[in-house]
Amino acid sequence: MKPAMKQNPVAQYFADIWAGIYTTYAGMKITIEYFFAKKVTMRYPEEKPIVPPGHRGLHVYDEAKCTGCRICLRACPVDCIAVDMLGRGKDVMLLQFDVDCARCLFCNLCAEACPTDALHLSEKFNLACGAREDCVLHCVRTKSQSEIDEFKVLLARKDAERKEAQAKKEAERKAREAQQGL
Ligand code: SF4
Ligand code: SF4
Repeated sequence: MKPAMKQNPVAQYFADIWAGIYTTYAGMKITIEYFFAKKVTMRYPEEKPIVPPGHRGLHVYDEAKCTGCRICLRACPVDCIAVDMLGRGKDVMLLQFDVDCARCLFCNLCAEACPTDALHLSEKFNLACGAREDCVLHCVRTKSQSEIDEFKVLLARKDAERKEAQAKKEAERKAREAQQGL
């Protein structure tokens, strides 16, 4: 076995000084490069990022356009929309339209399926919430009990009118058939 070479202490001294100078230079070079480079971070939330077009963020729902058809529910692959209503079609009162953002995939299938354009995914990106329950978007206006009762009365009246019109039509048809001797 070859004995280890003993290094000259003076050479070692200057080699250490050179290593110190070189590593300081290398570190400062990187620091200075980043100091003058274009910044990739921002002071959020004081500064807001530019959201690119087509970004799929939080849902925006237009209650006035919604018919309660539930097509969006059927389109959703993770069942994160909950809807409750009185009546249907034009005579509808939405009692609940909730989207659970903790489960949502932001796939946009619900908005694409909506036949009345009542649902969109917006550019709102701030989804931060402290608890799972806080991640649920409650989209409909809360109705008072008197509003609900009034609407039930309206529905009952419209239903009675519809039945009456149907009965009248049926009676007219029967009278026409009797006249024709059928
Ligand atoms: S974006 Fe996708 S996952 Fe989210 S509610 Fe709509 S269909 Fe469901
Ligand atoms: S598909 Fe559109 S209209 Fe139908 S329940 Fe959903 S949001 Fe309302």
